[in-house]
Amino acid sequence: MKVLCVYLLILLCMAKVTFAQDEKTSLLVITGGHGFDRLAFFEMMDALGNIEYKELAQPDANAYFLNPEGFDVILFYDMVQEISEAEKAGFEQMVKEGVGLVFLHHAIVSYQDWDFYRDVLGGRYIENGDDTQTQSTYQHDVHFDVKIADKDHPIVWGMEDFEIFDEIYGQVFISPQVNVLISSSHSESMEHLMWTREINSKTRSVYLQPGHGPGIFADPRYRKLLKNSIEWAAFRR
Ligand SMILES: [Zn+2]
Repeated sequence: MKVLCVYLLILLCMAKVTFAQDEKTSLLVITGGHGFDRLAFFEMMDALGNIEYKELAQPDANAYFLNPEGFDVILFYDMVQEISEAEKAGFEQMVKEGVGLVFLHHAIVSYQDWDFYRDVLGGRYIENGDDTQTQSTYQHDVHFDVKIADKDHPIVWGMEDFEIFDEIYGQVFISPQVNVLISSSHSESMEHLMWTREINSKTRSVYLQPGHGPGIFADPRYRKLLKNSIEWAAFRR
């Protein structure tokens, strides 16, 4: 009997170890409101590994904030302006309770009138400039340099500076509160291309500017940045 108990205990421990190794980060991918190369994008997502994702397209995705299902991380790859007050409140509650947030590329254009979103993301692409704010710009198919600004951060740890080919944005508002991970010296590009924010003790956010694709989606360094961002936002890095 004693031997049997020890045997069962060993089996139980082995099962637990296997479970821990197999545990995937659950990810909600929000798309819609802007075209993108679906094939290349999801080929990248499938290759990230250790991530289980579900896609939800706008305009329906906003309704998710009313009844969140507990994904570890939400990846924003959408670009929309409309959202109800109740959906905003749902998102704000989710951020308060703890969730991982990764914002890609044109997600920085979303919700021009919702400052909570701007503050959580850490910046805003200004769609309509006026006396108080400069109009942001974009330019497709540009070769630009990527400089690792915070070499000790777990998302970019061990990475070297590199060249990238994608769309650039310029004149974008960046909050002084962000922790900059990557910058560029390209004269037409916004100075910082990637940053993080720790919103509270349970919510981390990351913004990554490149992401128009499809070339960038195939770049192993970009895939690494995205995978590490998702893991960091999920408190697994
Ligand atoms: Zn784009």
